[in-house]
Amino acid sequence: MSQECEHNCESCQEDCDERSFLAPMNAHSHVKKVIGIVSGKGGVGKSSITSLLTVLKQREGYKVAVLDGDITGPSIAKAFGVEGTQLYSNGQEIIPAQTAFGTKIISTNLLLDNPEEPVVWRGPILAGMVKQFWSDVLWGEIDYMFVDMPPGTGDVPLTVFQSLPIDGIVIVTSPQELVGMIVEKAVNMARKMNIPILGIVENMSYVECPSCGQKIYVFGKSHLNDIADKYDLKVLGKLPLDSELTKLSDLGMIEDYQADWLDELQEALKDI
Ligand code: ADP
Repeated sequence: MSQECEHNCESCQEDCDERSFLAPMNAHSHVKKVIGIVSGKGGVGKSSITSLLTVLKQREGYKVAVLDGDITGPSIAKAFGVEGTQLYSNGQEIIPAQTAFGTKIISTNLLLDNPEEPVVWRGPILAGMVKQFWSDVLWGEIDYMFVDMPPGTGDVPLTVFQSLPIDGIVIVTSPQELVGMIVEKAVNMARKMNIPILGIVENMSYVECPSCGQKIYVFGKSHLNDIADKYDLKVLGKLPLDSELTKLSDLGMIEDYQADWLDELQEALKDI
């Protein structure tokens, strides 16, 4: 650190050990673990997995929150049934929306007059918004905060990575993606930032036949295990396509979702 250090890392060009872009947590909040959910591209189920991980931890009795960092495609508020909730401020901080089960949520959808309107902000504004969600929201005491990260591995997710004190990430893929390449990018990004990768989830892996229970691999054979071996990642789960999940997300009732395979996912999350 130089002797003239003004402790403003954002405008400083010096390459220094003390460099930090972390946005400050507001004085009245304490978040024990921050977990980022990332994906190589949109539409693979990143927000759905973020929601399910949150629901599973909430069912274990933890105090949980979701910071919806997917500013241009926010879907968390809708899945948890808080879309349209009027947000309040105590004059200094924003009070997050709260679900019937006590999950705290902040999302762009809650701040726009018309949630259907597309968000056409540039990168720095998107990243700044996520920082504000972290710093200006009165989160209170939280055991696990799940951050639905902006999709991809570009500038916006990178800035968010640098801004929040993320303890670990979960990578979400789907079998029809160019999985190897996309996972490699996400792994490289996390490793560059020194952020542990908690595991990888394959979403939409198969469909279960409602009559005989047979698994049908509609997108072909999964290559997840090979990729996980290659990058030394833990497979947290291979999740089915389930119309009930879509239905409950659309109805804002994801906290009511039940499925046999959730137990396996919950077991895999024990180490988190
Ligand atoms: P992303 O956050 O990666 O853009 P979403 O989680 O928003 O993706 O999912 C996109 C759509 O696919 C949503 O309508 C969601 O309900 C649906 N979906 C995601 N995962 C599943 C699944 N395993 N089974 C059924 N529908 C799913």
